[in-house]
Formats: sequence, C-alpha cells, structure tokens
Amino acid sequence: MAETLGRLLTDLGERSLYDAVSQCSRCGYCEQACPTYVATGEESKSPRGRNQIVRLMLEGKLDDPKAALESLSTCLTCGACTTACYAKVPVADIVLEGRRMLAGKPHWLTKRVSSLMVKSPRIFAFLLRIGFVLKKIGVSKLGRPILRACGLSVLASMDAHTDEAPFWNLDDLVKSREKTDGPAYRYFAACGTRYLFPRVGTATLDALDELKGKGAYLNNPCCGLLAHNYGELEDARKLAKKNIEHAEKNGGELIIGDDSSCVAHLKTYPQLFLKPEDSEWRARAEKFVKRIKDAIEIYGESSDMLPPKTAEGVETTYHDSCRAINGQGIKELPRQAARRAAGASFCEMAGSDACCGGAGAFGFVHESLSDDLLKTKVGNVAAVQAGVVLTSSTSCLIQLARGLRKYYPEAKALHLSEFVAGALRK
Ligand code: SF4
Ligand code: SF4
Repeated sequence: MAETLGRLLTDLGERSLYDAVSQCSRCGYCEQACPTYVATGEESKSPRGRNQIVRLMLEGKLDDPKAALESLSTCLTCGACTTACYAKVPVADIVLEGRRMLAGKPHWLTKRVSSLMVKSPRIFAFLLRIGFVLKKIGVSKLGRPILRACGLSVLASMDAHTDEAPFWNLDDLVKSREKTDGPAYRYFAACGTRYLFPRVGTATLDALDELKGKGAYLNNPCCGLLAHNYGELEDARKLAKKNIEHAEKNGGELIIGDDSSCVAHLKTYPQLFLKPEDSEWRARAEKFVKRIKDAIEIYGESSDMLPPKTAEGVETTYHDSCRAINGQGIKELPRQAARRAAGASFCEMAGSDACCGGAGAFGFVHESLSDDLLKTKVGNVAAVQAGVVLTSSTSCLIQLARGLRKYYPEAKALHLSEFVAGALRK
C-alpha cells in the first residue's frame, strides 16, 4: 500500500479519513452532479458508491478490490459532487486516498516522470523537446502502435490528443523577466503552460502587466500535482516544500498562476502537512496559500479596466475548469471579464460547469468514457453556435481542442488569458 494522508482538511475542519467518509449520509443528492454517474448510470461510478467503497476498505470489509479499483480510477476528481453536497464530503480527496490504498507502488513511468520533475527539471524539459521534434516531423504518430504494444498506451494517447508541439518553452521566452525589480506580482508557471502552451504564459504576463503593473517570472518548480494524484505523496511533499521555500526566498506578496488545476493544488498545500512533526511546514504552507491567486480571479476583479466591446463579434462561451469552479469556488469572476471583453457576443452554454473529460491523465487512460463526456460538452458548444470557448486549465485546453477538432471545427479553445490580453491589445 502506498502512503496515504490519513487526515483531510474538510469544510467542517480537519478530520480523519474515516470521519470524512462518514460525513456521507448516502442521500444521493450529488448523483446527478457526477459526470461519470450520469454517463454510465452505475452506482459504483457515483460519489456515493465511491465513498461507500472507501468506507468498506477502511472497515476491512472490501471483498472485490478489482471492482473497487475500477470504480475509483474512473473518478475524474472533478469535485462536482462536493459542490452539490450539503455536507461538503470531500469525495475527490477520499477517492485519491482509496486509490493509494489499493494501488501500491505507482506505475514506473509516473514515478520516473515525477522524479525527473523533482530532481532534474532540465532533463525533463530536454526530453520533452525531443518528443516535440518527433511530433513535428510526424514520427511520433508512427511510434504509437509500438508504444501501445510496450504497455505505454498512455504515452500514445497523449501524443494523439495533443496537437500543439512548441519547440520553445516558456522559460526560453520569458526567463529574463526573473530579474524584474520590485515586481507587482510573481508569475507561477504551471508545467502545462510552460511546456505545452507557452502562448498562454506570455498572454498571462501581458494581461497581468497591464492590469497589475510589471510582474516577474518566478521560475518555480513543478507544483507536485502529478505526484499527488498519480505518484507518491513523498514526491508531492518535496515539491510543495521546494515551492514554499522558493516563494519565501523570492519575496513579494502576490503569486499568480494561470492553470487552475495547479493553482487549486497550491492552495491545498497545508493538507500535505497534517502530521504533528510537520507543524512548522503546515504554518509555512498556510502563509504561502494566502499569496496565491488564479489569474482568472484577477481578470474578474479588474474587469472594469478591460475595454468594453461594443461591436458584435464571434460568439464566445465559457467552460469552467473543475479545479476553478469546484476546487477554488471561482464561478462569476472569469465571466465578468469574458462578458466585458466579448460584449453581446458572450453566451452561456448548458452544462458549462460539467467536466469535459480531460481531468489530468483521465482522458489518456479512460478514452471511451472521456470521449462520451467530451461529446456532450462539444454538443453544448455547438448548441449556442460559439466560435470561441474560453477556459482556464491545460487539461481543459487539450481536451476541448481535441473535441472541437473532431466534432465541431467551427470553434476553437482559448485560455481566458489569451482573450483578455487580446482585448487589452486592441
Ligand atoms: S456525498 Fe454528500 S450528497 Fe453525496 S450521498 Fe454523500 S452526503 Fe449525499
Ligand atoms: S469527483 Fe467528479 S467524477 Fe468523482 S465522484 Fe465526484 S462528481 Fe463524480
């Protein structure tokens, strides 16, 4: 069994895992909010079913570990159930704990990737660059059957799902900004923005510079989300400590990130340090969290500074990243900015807060279920005839771009930063 947290920070305060699970009264009120339950109709793929499985594990009464793993591994950890639940049962955290109890050691590839991110980020960036070159010249496509035959179908799916292959990463483009004097904010680069969508990172810096004043590049380590969700907690803790130390050393108050999944994870750092011997780190993590903001919060708070759009434009809609709306409770702020910058062209779509099926590695591992959720999402985009879908995380950008290419090429996916930066430039 892999290490577990054992204790969780819930809306009702710090609880043991068992007490957190026991907060579930099995009312079923969350079922219709759960994308995997709605898609499959199976109780084992519902929040209530997943809570019950972890409860049985903790009571030593689980008789079918294989079925339990299937139930827990198909959870998107989107948190929609917790938003709907009157008792705020932290199902996503409970599911992650259940997976750690069942899964034992993580897959060697996950272990190697998170270890590279912790110990040798430069080698990690170099390997990614090789991958991107292979993709650009079309070789990676030919290698997909080999990857699948070697049991690395996740890599093959990642290659198939991602369309962009930037040669220059964000460090190459903006690292010189590390030395900005007296910056108004520090920019936290998520790995997705850094390596896959540097165009989003530069747009965020452009937009924030206009709205907050000149900022600096924090040049931070990985936030540790991958290790937390798929690898080992020890690696997640090491990366959290590295980030806290790095932020303390680099001064300033405000740290802003533009990948809602990573920002949400940064905001949960205190939960990694609940053991009595980690009390000093918990206090440091709590201070760190107070400095963290999601860029979409800033855009909403500063929406009056955006030039209002008066002429009609391309219909624009908004897709909530799960880790923004459920993980951080951010719903209205990005819409305020999008409405201001899109004017009358902004339209709400049905199910804007439902997971698109990206959910980190979920889209690469559970392709069929992920595709079902994606089709529903793209259907909702098409229903409002949107030409632009705005969002705020790498995972959503990859998934939406893939879905739009496949089912509704009339629309494109953009990060809200790109939209806001574009409006400020006009
Ligand atoms: S998680 Fe919450 S809403 Fe869902 S069954 Fe349990 S108590 Fe009810
Ligand atoms: S986190 Fe999302 S997928 Fe998992 S049980 Fe809750 S609503 Fe369902």
